[in-house]
Amino acid sequence: MKRSSFQARIVALMIAVVVVAQLVTFGVVQVATGRGVSEALGEELHVGQRVWTRFYERRGEQLLENAAVLADDFGFKAAVASGDPPTMRSALANHSSRVGAQASLLLSPEGDWMAGLSDADASLQQAAMRPLLRQAEAEGYAVGVIRLGDRLVRMALVPVLAPELIAWVAIGIDFGDEFATDFRGVTGLDASFVTANAGVTQVHASSLGGAARVALQTAPAEQLGPDGRVRKLSVGTAHYLSLAQPLTMTGSDGLMVLLQGSLDEAMAPYETLKYRILALSALAAVLALLVASLLGRNLSRPIGQLASAARRVQAGDYSHPVEVRGGDEIADLAAAFGSMQGEIGAREQRILHQAHHDALTGLPNRAHARHRMEQALQRCSLDGGSFAVLILDLERFKEINDTLGHAFADNVLAEVAARLQLEVSDNALVARLGGDQFMLLLEEATQRDALQRCNVLLAHLRRPLDLRGTRLTIDASIGVALYPDHGADVETLLRRADIALDDAKAVHSGTALYRPGRDEMHLRQLTLMGDLRLGIERGELSLRFQPKMDIATARVVHVEALLRWTHARLGSIGPDEFIPLAEHSGFIHELTRYVLDHALLCNSRWRRQGVDLGLAVNLSAMDLLDADLPDYLRECLDRHEVPASKVILEVTESAIMRDVDYAIRMLQRLRAIGVRLAIDDFGTGYSSLAQLKRMPVDEIKIDKSFVMQLVEGSDDAVIVRSTIELGHNMGLTVIAEGVETEPAMALLRQYRCDMAQGFLFSPPLGAEEMLAWCRNDLTLAEANDLDRAATGGSQG
Ligand code: C2E
Ligand code: CA
Ligand code: CA
Repeated sequence: MKRSSFQARIVALMIAVVVVAQLVTFGVVQVATGRGVSEALGEELHVGQRVWTRFYERRGEQLLENAAVLADDFGFKAAVASGDPPTMRSALANHSSRVGAQASLLLSPEGDWMAGLSDADASLQQAAMRPLLRQAEAEGYAVGVIRLGDRLVRMALVPVLAPELIAWVAIGIDFGDEFATDFRGVTGLDASFVTANAGVTQVHASSLGGAARVALQTAPAEQLGPDGRVRKLSVGTAHYLSLAQPLTMTGSDGLMVLLQGSLDEAMAPYETLKYRILALSALAAVLALLVASLLGRNLSRPIGQLASAARRVQAGDYSHPVEVRGGDEIADLAAAFGSMQGEIGAREQRILHQAHHDALTGLPNRAHARHRMEQALQRCSLDGGSFAVLILDLERFKEINDTLGHAFADNVLAEVAARLQLEVSDNALVARLGGDQFMLLLEEATQRDALQRCNVLLAHLRRPLDLRGTRLTIDASIGVALYPDHGADVETLLRRADIALDDAKAVHSGTALYRPGRDEMHLRQLTLMGDLRLGIERGELSLRFQPKMDIATARVVHVEALLRWTHARLGSIGPDEFIPLAEHSGFIHELTRYVLDHALLCNSRWRRQGVDLGLAVNLSAMDLLDADLPDYLRECLDRHEVPASKVILEVTESAIMRDVDYAIRMLQRLRAIGVRLAIDDFGTGYSSLAQLKRMPVDEIKIDKSFVMQLVEGSDDAVIVRSTIELGHNMGLTVIAEGVETEPAMALLRQYRCDMAQGFLFSPPLGAEEMLAWCRNDLTLAEANDLDRAATGGSQG
């Protein structure tokens, strides 16, 4: 559509140019030839006018000579002198026929009629001759044109002398068509003898043919104008240039000779030229049409090809090369277009690659990994195959980042990517999900295959890495989810592999397979994590207190604060569940501050009510990383006016073991405040004797797992006993938790354990109940003391 209109425009333009050029040429030729022909014809008329004058005068002179010859003839003179009319007439007839005159007459010296040859009335002839006679009387002769009826006659009048004047003799020849035709024979110009009086044109004689002569009769008299100028004259359908000259010598009114040159005849040779030019113009227009349509097609075809190539590019198809043949600008344009298409294609490829790959490691990114999983899912749903999704997370990568810098950490990531790629087969995918997380997709892998592969990968990753002169070891955890066992869609599989990864990290096992049900648990954990802060605001959290008894005196030394959460929807949540979640989400710092604040508040209240108790508060592993905690503790003690020596902080052995040096520094800061420190859950954290020696602690608390089933002769009894001895040797107080039975209590007493805590004495109680229980206990203890004093008893 567009192409044809482009072509049509070119054709129309070319034809217009050619036609206009031809028309202008034609017009110029027309005007120039018209003007040239007119000028030539005008010139011819001027020449004709001179010829006419000579021609006219010559004829006049001839006539005059003939008349003089006649007048001088002796016989003729004698005849005239006879006075006899018949003699005179025959002499006139003889002589005039001899000189070829068509009219002759004799007048008396006074001008009266004597004889004549014409049929016309004598008196009329006499009157017509009068102007000539007057001229002849003055000049001795006269030549002129007179009208005799319808005839115009050229007359010469001379005297007949014998020797005195005896008569005037005149001879004449017809001044008519013949005369005009003669002139035409000499000059090629038409001549007409015309009178134009009172606007009426009368043609007396002419060289023109009948129709032209009649038409001339109708020509307006003013158009003729005997002024010697060349004028245009249209007679009927014919066109002339004319020049009129009066024949004044005749005295005949308004008579003139009109010389005419035919413009039509003069233009005739040019008419054919005009038709030839027109024919040539038509030919040129046709040629222009052909050339233009050819040119238009040649131009519009490659442009059309370019346009459709552009449309292909627009549709994202870069595969077809742009082919326009030739060596002209359009071919150049096509070549440029082609290379542009190539560039765009390459750039799109690059952008596509960037959109699906990670710039740092060059591995496929999360979007690409998901896409590949979708494909694997589709394949497996058809052929019943299976695959494994592994999510791998580097350990302590943040530390590498913080201590060695981002550039170094980037190199570590690139190295990890390279190692992973080396270790997987061709049909496996390694992708980077972001940060220090990678994903592997192992197709057709069973659970066994996947776990084996994990071990190989981890072993490979753990090999020392030398980077820029720094040697370091990398460790990682891997979570595994299997299709179809653990999920049937990308989302679920990724989430479950992530949950498995969390499990692997939590238990430091390196690799963990997704456990069915973990997802629901994970959801509950997510809910709890989100709700914990709200729980504090809504007052869902509270404290219970459990006494730590001095075995020797059977008195309460400390009460341990234990946190409780009654969730509005999920009911009672144990601290073993929500404390790790709080650690995970980073909320533990606030939680610990809450416990410290409330526990110290209760403690100060009790003291005001007369019960002076020590307070044990649990710290979590993450609290040891909270550099602001010592300041907070000091401020809190001041605020509640509780002496620092009344407080003992319990830190689990495993928490200390995560980073011994850091933990020791933190414990020292806390101890500097004046509080006491206890190692909680002792026996579960694999601390060495050497490490234990360095700990700035006052108390060790034997884990309840060794105490609850404590019976004589058991392994637990050996452990408990040696732990107590060890603690005492190091100058520490030893307490056993989870004391539920009297036999266990008896053994502890036997092993000289310092303190005991457990359901045997009291479960954890609310603040008020605790106060009541303590008062009762104190009363009992005082009663015992009194008993002992009364009996003078010495037992411990
Ligand atoms: P833990 O510090 O070892 O606390 C002792 C746990 O043993 C308490 O469980 C207590 O109720 C329970 N217990 C006491 N006597 C007996 C007994 O005779 N038999 C048995 N079977 N159990 C006994 P609870 O209160 O469920 O606390 C569990 C753990 O939660 C605590 O272990 C502690 O590690 C953590 N926890 C509790 N409250 C807090 C807190 O405020 N802060 C921190 N960081 N951890 C807390
Ligand atoms: Ca504890
Ligand atoms: Ca414990």
